[in-house]
Amino acid sequence: MSQMTIEFNARLESIPYYPAADAYGDGRELVLLASNETPFTPAPAVREAIVARIGSLNRYPDPEKSELRARIAARCGVDASMVTVGNGSCEILLAAAQALLEPGAEVVFAWPSFSVYPQLAALTGAREVRVSLDREQRHDLAAIAREVTAATRLVLVCNPNNPTGTALPVAAIDAFVAEVPRHVCVIVDEAYVEFSTLQDPDESIDLVRRHPNVVLLRTFSKVYGLCGLRCGYAIGPESFRVACEKVRQPFTVNALAQAAATVAIDLQEEVERRVEQTAVERLHVVEELRARGLPVADSEANFCWVGLGGRDDRLVCDELARQGVIVRAGSALGGPGHLRVTFGTRDENERFLDALDAALAAVPAADA
Ligand SMILES: *Cc1c(COP(=O)(O)O)cnc(C)c1O
Repeated sequence: MSQMTIEFNARLESIPYYPAADAYGDGRELVLLASNETPFTPAPAVREAIVARIGSLNRYPDPEKSELRARIAARCGVDASMVTVGNGSCEILLAAAQALLEPGAEVVFAWPSFSVYPQLAALTGAREVRVSLDREQRHDLAAIAREVTAATRLVLVCNPNNPTGTALPVAAIDAFVAEVPRHVCVIVDEAYVEFSTLQDPDESIDLVRRHPNVVLLRTFSKVYGLCGLRCGYAIGPESFRVACEKVRQPFTVNALAQAAATVAIDLQEEVERRVEQTAVERLHVVEELRARGLPVADSEANFCWVGLGGRDDRLVCDELARQGVIVRAGSALGGPGHLRVTFGTRDENERFLDALDAALAAVPAADA
């Protein structure tokens, strides 16, 4: 009996588990460019809202998230019944999978794309269909449309795409959705939409008004800089929100997250400043990388996807970590031979570029 171990659900075997990246550092502070966080710390008004809620933490949070949903609805020009709030937008993705998928059903998404998408199929026993990105590392919407069948329940479009940073204009997504049968839920994951120069963030909200099967997914984790609190939201049909509520635990979005996000959603001038500063860094880092002869996909996000000229991305990542710079290896994201690098402050970006020069010199190209 002593040899017995816990027996888990067979579906778990198809879900990869990545331990957190090792960080070595060289005595200096680490440069954290692996998780697409922003370097901007919470605004004073957001801190005040969090502090003000601490005294009543003996009470459960609002299960309806009424105030936050009302603020988001007002900001986005939709009815509050169309707003779902989650413990991070990842929670909404997982809830959507539980609500939409089951054995025999299919989910279609581009690849490489967000690392959580394959989990949605694995957790529910649905069949996943991955569709390669095009030559510019963008979603190939025509190819995705061809994979939609009578069994398809969910299509995921990540715009801008993580990990490549590439984006499509709203008109292209609109035309795509018009071709997809209405029983198929199309989730447009817009975690980075504020950073895109191809559209105003408000522009894509029209997709929800025009198509009853579209859900936009957004988050307070990226430009709003609140990933430590976990809060995201979706805009879509009320039936989607009710379905998500049914499969989640009660009181799922904590009180501090609700309080902070309720204030953060109205700090649009701060968002614009962050977007501008990120765009300046994006231009700088991408130009520097291309000047080194490395291919970089056109980024509309706060990170970029860079090819390493045949080098092993894990070795380059280890070399960078040794110098205290943490980025994500492409192999873990479906793109061996690449790095995904978040844009930080100018200082952090310079440290990354210096460390990269050393790492490129230390790791030989495969064909060299
Ligand atoms: C970061 C990210 C999210 C947001 O996740 P949260 O759970 O809201 O922190 C969602 N989708 C994509 C593609 C992301 O990169």
